[in-house]
Amino acid sequence: MYNLPMNTQIVTHNQQQTEDFAQQFAKTLVGGETILLNGDLGAGKTHFVKGIARELGIDEVITSPTFALHNQYEGGRLTLNHFDFYRIMDPDEAEILGLNEFFCEQGAISCIEWGQNIAELLPHDCIVVTIEKLGETERQITISRYL
Ligand code: ADP
Ligand code: MG
Repeated sequence: MYNLPMNTQIVTHNQQQTEDFAQQFAKTLVGGETILLNGDLGAGKTHFVKGIARELGIDEVITSPTFALHNQYEGGRLTLNHFDFYRIMDPDEAEILGLNEFFCEQGAISCIEWGQNIAELLPHDCIVVTIEKLGETERQITISRYL
């Protein structure tokens, strides 16, 4: 069973607030973390990753790797691996591509959108960020850290 030592929840009112909150959250990252981003299409998962990238000192523009499945950004204080498994229907597809080998790498973090599509490949000790749409621009963001 998991302990749940950290559980943070806020409501943001625009994408800038979501990015700023993600930037604050990213200060806690030391490398080796896997961050699962849960939420519908357009919830703000990719914008959350943009805020993380800003804290890491990554200058490149972050775009959702919907077709590439995986983008890697180096040059920040930690390497950022950003995954989007929206188009993956079978975890075997991701495993054949070796994508799960990036999870938990030291000196890097993994941010995963649509991780439920590869559930059996996910590590046990993930940080789960859930983003729920409350309105046109209101988002409830919940961070649960499982250690
Ligand atoms: P996802 O990756 O979850 O599909 P994106 O981050 O790509 O979502 O897009 C989120 C969309 O919602 C963007 O168009 C963004 O401008 C908009 N948006 C509106 N309000 C917010 C908010 N509070 N936080 C994040 N995104 C927001
Ligand atoms: Mg996205």
